[in-house]
Amino acid sequence: MVPVRRALRLVIDGKAEIVEADAGRLVRSQAVAVPRPAVIRLVRFVHVPRRFRRQVTNTFLFARDGYRCQFCRRPAGSLRHRECLTRDHLTPLSRGGTNEWTNVVTACSTCNTRKGNRLPEECGMQPMHVPAEPHFVHLAWAVRRLTPVQARYIRLFYGADTLATLRGL
Ligand SMILES: [Zn+2]
Repeated sequence: MVPVRRALRLVIDGKAEIVEADAGRLVRSQAVAVPRPAVIRLVRFVHVPRRFRRQVTNTFLFARDGYRCQFCRRPAGSLRHRECLTRDHLTPLSRGGTNEWTNVVTACSTCNTRKGNRLPEECGMQPMHVPAEPHFVHLAWAVRRLTPVQARYIRLFYGADTLATLRGL
């Protein structure tokens, strides 16, 4: 799953070809109008830098944790007016913690403030799940709504179970 602009770049550079396009939707530039790609096939292997694959953005972090505070277990929809989801570092940055997947969890702003500069064992606040690096593809799917065409291809290549899992994320 890549943004449309990136997909077009891959197609224009000859690195991918369009398998399915959104009917009736063209992407126009000054010179050409091409179908808006829905499914592309890589013509050759495209390297994705490891630092990009491993990058933890809040969008992906919250998706990994099911949009739920890992300390008080409240989902985003149950937060109060002035609360929001935040990134908590289990080992705080000020104490040598990193931004690796294994050190960050989703926390509501209230829990994040309460935990402050302490380690989980110092304040008795343990996350619901031991944080781990998720499969990047699962994250990419989790934060985007699948189109019917994309859903068809995921069912074709990965099976109905995978599709159902992704839709439930
Ligand atoms: Zn919380």
